[in-house]
Amino acid sequence: MGDVLVLNRYFYAIQVISWQRALSLIYLDHARVIDDEYKTYSFDDWRELSSQIKDHPSGYVHTPHFKIAIPDVIALRYFDGLPKSEVKFTRRNIYEHYGYRCAYCGHKFSTSDLNLEHVIPKSRGGKTDWANVVTACIPCNLRKGNRLPNEANMKLMLQPSKPKWRGSASVVFRPGIRIKASWQRFIDNVYWNTELERQ
Ligand SMILES: [Zn+2]
Repeated sequence: MGDVLVLNRYFYAIQVISWQRALSLIYLDHARVIDDEYKTYSFDDWRELSSQIKDHPSGYVHTPHFKIAIPDVIALRYFDGLPKSEVKFTRRNIYEHYGYRCAYCGHKFSTSDLNLEHVIPKSRGGKTDWANVVTACIPCNLRKGNRLPNEANMKLMLQPSKPKWRGSASVVFRPGIRIKASWQRFIDNVYWNTELERQ
């Protein structure tokens, strides 16, 4: 229940923080609570509303004098920056990095016709990281199977490498973060920007 999505002042999702930190930002008036209808609330407004709502999905904090609902989404009042954008190991970034091309036949494909391909197969200790993952079309991916490229008599036209450019500036969810339904309207790109579990 405890995670809170943080937006910048333009309602652009930038990070996820704990409810404790979120409430202190609201209390200090550095941020406002955002509800489902994009209405904003100061600490006092939110506290008053909290006393009226019955079942808040994320729960409440009780103090000796009042209870306050744990917000799902808050927006910073002044910050207009974007998240730090080192190149994350995401599906989107991997596809972009290899130009939507198959590393074996070199042709360009749409995303639905490309797979992530482990040059050294996972079953043989190949890692899921920039040094071992490329994109491949489905036929090449199947043809190669659980073999090394030379065993399959296939040549890599694109070598696995880490991109030098900076990633698309968008909130990136740590693996293990549960994405709340109430966050969805502020993030439509979760699938593409979730950092993949590295093995
Ligand atoms: Zn191919």
